[in-house]
Amino acid sequence: MSNKYPFTENTLGKKLEAGTGLSVYYLTCKRTAALDVAERRFGADQPCMHWDLIKIIYCHECRAAGRDDRNLQFTNHALAPEKRRR
Ligand SMILES: [Zn+2]
Repeated sequence: MSNKYPFTENTLGKKLEAGTGLSVYYLTCKRTAALDVAERRFGADQPCMHWDLIKIIYCHECRAAGRDDRNLQFTNHALAPEKRRR
């Protein structure tokens, strides 16, 4: 198997389990927000590759303002040990 992606957590549920996170950078309005990987409306099976996330995430402010609301960049966060609660 080729190791095409640096992350094996290819769904939000796996990211949650691994304790890793995602943030989204809104290129249009230059805001950054942490993505809640535990958010129920996405579901644990929600794939979290760029092309998957771009379908479900958009900038509410830009949409309201009539700007490009899907000009996004996603950043994977490494394991944050202090955030693990098990
Ligand atoms: Zn925006």
